[in-house]
Amino acid sequence: MKRKIKVLILASVLGLIALSIIQGYLINNTYELKKKAFINETRASISQIDDFSPTLDSLSDFWQETFINKVVDYKFGIAKKEDVVSSLEFVIDSINDTYKAEYQKALISNDIQYGIKFHKKVRAIIVTDSIKSDTLFNIQKTPKQIVLGDEISEENSIGISNTNWETEHTSTRMIDGENKEIGFILLFQTKDEMDIEGWRSIVFKQMLGLLLLSLFIFVMVIALLYYSIKSLISQKKIAEIKTDFVNNMTHELKTPLATLSLATKMLKNTDVKQQPEMVESTISTIDRQNMRLQKLIDQVLNNSMGYQEIQLNMETVNIEPYFNTVLDDFTLAVKSKDVVINKNFEIEQKTIELDKFYITTALLNILENAVKYSSDDQVIIDCHIESHSSLKISIKDNGIGISDKDKKQVFEKFYRAGNTEIHNVKGLGLGLYYTSQIVKAHHGTINLESKEGKGTTFVISIPFN
Ligand code: ADP
Repeated sequence: MKRKIKVLILASVLGLIALSIIQGYLINNTYELKKKAFINETRASISQIDDFSPTLDSLSDFWQETFINKVVDYKFGIAKKEDVVSSLEFVIDSINDTYKAEYQKALISNDIQYGIKFHKKVRAIIVTDSIKSDTLFNIQKTPKQIVLGDEISEENSIGISNTNWETEHTSTRMIDGENKEIGFILLFQTKDEMDIEGWRSIVFKQMLGLLLLSLFIFVMVIALLYYSIKSLISQKKIAEIKTDFVNNMTHELKTPLATLSLATKMLKNTDVKQQPEMVESTISTIDRQNMRLQKLIDQVLNNSMGYQEIQLNMETVNIEPYFNTVLDDFTLAVKSKDVVINKNFEIEQKTIELDKFYITTALLNILENAVKYSSDDQVIIDCHIESHSSLKISIKDNGIGISDKDKKQVFEKFYRAGNTEIHNVKGLGLGLYYTSQIVKAHHGTINLESKEGKGTTFVISIPFN
């Protein structure tokens, strides 16, 4: 059964891990899809912005015109290649602030709610005529960046589109008193890029419902699994307790029943019948065994009562004389072992209201256990009784002690700790349960401290009112 539960727990944990991996994979896929959809949506909504803004359009016309004029100068040999590029940089610089401001205005009028940075990056400028193809600028071959719009870092930039403008130009100039004409094709390659501010949190917000739902389902699955395994373990424990109880009860019944059967056989014997003392002693054995059986039945019936069923008969008790009597009577009653009880009283409040019968039963249960679970021939029990703000009864023995694992459970009904198997002590596991219920009925508490092989201390605390 233990192995089965372990396999079940392992299988559930593995199942949970597999489930989390699949869920993680699906969430990641959804995130990627949402991200793509969001970026595509943004791309689509800003790709037309230039066309709808007349100012942006005229700014584009302005820099293109200035730039083409410089290219014409270059083709007539009036300007150098570097002059064309620096003139382009210059004109872009001069209009850039206005361009950026206009772009942001255009974004607002297009109802775009989140922050977007945008720029056009020049990739290449190639001038071709009938003779040759002349590269004026190529981004691959220079660290220089010619950018119209916002600064966007490499890692944040999201590509929108690549544009190739190919335009044909013819131009005339008066050079050395002669009207000269020139024709060329200008290939202007640009790349539009954007940076959507906080796009991760926007996508995350879109996924929040899904994330919360999957987290909820995950927690539910864990809770259900935990609950099922817990109830399985507790059912297994109950089944074990039942078996233990039946075994212990059978064990307890065996001896008196065997003695009773022997005694009846003896009484039937004609030789015995003729000896009155023998008959007398057999009858008293039958009586004793009968009492033992009665005690056993009472123990099972009474000691399994819960604190709600205990009817207290409260009376005012004089603390010191009462405890002295209980402890002295107990010392006299134990004959099987050498028992020493050290008493120590610290009395401030002299009397207390309690049910003498029940509290005596509770104390006797603890004292009997101190003898039952002793390790040495001499049992030393230290009783410390303190009455200040509450009545505190501490009973310390030099017995076999209780393991940490068992400590929490010894007050449970029918629970018997591991030490009973090692030391083969009989019992039904009801004594401490009943003791704790009696204390609870008095609104008190019971605790224990113990170290295996070193002894156990039980501390009962009962309030004065
Ligand atoms: P039992 O009939 O088994 O004695 P109890 O309810 O009185 O039942 O005790 C529960 C278990 O707690 C015992 O089976 C025993 O293992 C452990 N126990 C109780 N008192 C002591 C003690 N003084 N020293 C060591 N173990 C103890």
